[in-house]
Amino acid sequence: MNVPFVDLKVQYQSIKPDIDKAIGDVIAETAFIGGKYVNEFEKKFAELYGVKHCISCANGTDSLYILMKMLGIGTGDEVITVANSWISSSETITQTGATPVFVDIDQVYYSIDEKQIESKITAKTKAIIPVHLHGQMCEMDSILEIAAKHNIPVIEDCAQSHFSVYKGKRAGTMGIAGSFSFYPGKNLGAYGDAGCIITDDDKLAENCKRYARHGALIKHQHTTEGVNSRLDGLQAAILSAKLPYILGWTAQRQANAKYYDRVLSGISQIVIPEVRPGTEHSYHLYVVRAERRDELGQCLKSKGIETSVHYPVPLPFMKAYQYLRHTEHDFPISNKYQHQILSLPLYPELSNEMMDYVSNTIKDFYSK
Ligand SMILES: *Cc1c(COP(=O)(O)O)cnc(C)c1O
Repeated sequence: MNVPFVDLKVQYQSIKPDIDKAIGDVIAETAFIGGKYVNEFEKKFAELYGVKHCISCANGTDSLYILMKMLGIGTGDEVITVANSWISSSETITQTGATPVFVDIDQVYYSIDEKQIESKITAKTKAIIPVHLHGQMCEMDSILEIAAKHNIPVIEDCAQSHFSVYKGKRAGTMGIAGSFSFYPGKNLGAYGDAGCIITDDDKLAENCKRYARHGALIKHQHTTEGVNSRLDGLQAAILSAKLPYILGWTAQRQANAKYYDRVLSGISQIVIPEVRPGTEHSYHLYVVRAERRDELGQCLKSKGIETSVHYPVPLPFMKAYQYLRHTEHDFPISNKYQHQILSLPLYPELSNEMMDYVSNTIKDFYSK
């Protein structure tokens, strides 16, 4: 049996008429950049989240950069984020001219350890970017409390947490803004690059929108310089076509995670993911900690099961951040877990038979 890590083809097949119609409509109307389909998607996404504004942009990296830039973050400033994430979370801090300040991950939930944030705040700290990694919510009450005490905005990186919930509130609705990626493999994925910002802050929304569109809200009236970060019509129409299904897909991810939990729970060499109490995990990734991780990954691969590691090297240990002179002792949990974490295939279309095959193959590996 083959179990790919992600399978975007099966999802396309399941909604082919909707997608094909969406693409056909955009082409027939040549609504390639801006226009009706982009406006429609922004409106629908904002409605689903119960927020005032959704500003679409080219990808989930730009959304972070634009937000920081519009919050006035620049040279000499510091922004706090987590040691284990995709590089967009820290790269965009550098892009503004600021310096990324990393915090280790929590031992149980793998997201930023909120207990260590306050000790990293200095007079230069201008924002905190918690990343709801894997779809697991960060401890938002503590983070918001620390941020409020120091008068620092919180930008939620929701690239992996579409429709995750913290105490009844969706990821992206608790900080000053939420940043989303619609990269094809994300829980809500376009057929190319795409991203957005959501916020209830009118001024911030307007500034982000202007900046993402060359500094002009009205054509040819450039009140400032900006960047070109637009969502194109095809991607917007594809995303709109997928929106009616997203809550069902999220529920199916959660059901599949429960199934994995059950079939993997008896294996002592594996630690299954724990969900933070009071939250709903959206399982962008199903990450276990495994003994002899690399050997297990190889074995699964040889049996047709694709796995991955998110991420193999924590950000502070990357060559790109060598200049910060961090050592492994600065981030002991990230350092330890980088050799243990393994992402198993998980998507809505994964069948119980496939998950049985994965768990049985893992059991066989450890019984030898
Ligand atoms: C995917 C991702 C991003 C960036 O999104 P792109 O659309 O690929 O630019 C940012 N942060 C995290 C945590 C991500 O996983």
